[in-house]
Amino acid sequence: MIIDSLIPSATRGARPRPVAIGSVVIGGADVPVISGPCAVEPNYVAHARAAARAGAAALRGCVYKPRTQPEAFQGMGAAGLELVDEARRLTRLPVIAEPLDTEHVAELRAHVDALMIGARSMHNTPLLRAAARSGLPVIVKRGMSATIDEWLAAARYVLVEGNDQVILCERGIRTFEPATRNTLDLSSIPVLGERTDLPVIVDPSHAAGHASWVPALAVAAVAAGADGLLIESHPDPEHALCDAAQAISSASLAEIVRSTRLLVTQARPSPVTTVEECRAAIDGVDAALARLLERRATLVSRVERIKLDRGVPIRDRRREAEVTARVASLAPQLGHAGAAAIMSAVIDACVATALNDDLAERGLPA
Ligand code: PEP
Ligand code: MN
Repeated sequence: MIIDSLIPSATRGARPRPVAIGSVVIGGADVPVISGPCAVEPNYVAHARAAARAGAAALRGCVYKPRTQPEAFQGMGAAGLELVDEARRLTRLPVIAEPLDTEHVAELRAHVDALMIGARSMHNTPLLRAAARSGLPVIVKRGMSATIDEWLAAARYVLVEGNDQVILCERGIRTFEPATRNTLDLSSIPVLGERTDLPVIVDPSHAAGHASWVPALAVAAVAAGADGLLIESHPDPEHALCDAAQAISSASLAEIVRSTRLLVTQARPSPVTTVEECRAAIDGVDAALARLLERRATLVSRVERIKLDRGVPIRDRRREAEVTARVASLAPQLGHAGAAAIMSAVIDACVATALNDDLAERGLPA
């Protein structure tokens, strides 16, 4: 196959440390596509469902938009968050959104699974720190005139706050070439592969500025070693309220998902070839799992406190069976028995932790 010979055997120096956005792992074996319209619009739920049907692994859910012109649609603001909740519930996909200021961070935290620092905000250090302190994964987009070193320095503002859930996003830089909205700097992918273990995703939409160039850039980014893609899509691109020219159709999104999956499974060199590499990758997955389990235990604790206050039983076997069935369908390799064994242990441990927290709070022995 031509592609095989075109791809260097080591597109990245080392494998990245995986970062989980909800249930989606960036920097693992798959190359997930995060998609949806540029901005949350009144019909967002339908747009999100179309992206999910086309194979998006996570959704864009931006309610605040940094626009060049003050007269342009600035996003639905807080009014769009109900739509984000609804789309997240119906599609069961994780959602990412962009805070424009530190106040948005606290507001978005309850509705989304990761925060995205946009290109224009890459130098906004209070925003980077606030996003880091949210505890959510943070996607740091490259500023349009930022060098790779400046971009990495911005990412370190998140890391030094104790949040190591950082993903870098290449979205093109401003050059002398006006034909495209930006120039997609694909060289940053192998360069970053040598300089950092953070996963790198690519946004071909803001790089191209035009829908018809997005598929080529998306495939090129994956061939060059990108760990994921961020793509603007819309079921009716012409009528998108924001960045309509670069919005690809649902059919085009499905085609990109299909062809990049093929590229990853057939043409990209296997990322792990030795026992040591496999173990390093497993350690990364375990670390992501541990963080997700901590988050789950905290949420279970919150639910239990509400149930104890209301005097309703803590355990709900029907809900537990539903949770197990959902995990089994998302992880077919485990089989239903495997998923049931794991979820039974996870649920028991979370309930026990929550009960201990509650007893400790009341000053009673565990
Ligand atoms: C976006 O992804 O919504 C966006 C505004 O892109 P950028 O910050 O890369 O211009
Ligand atoms: Mn956009």
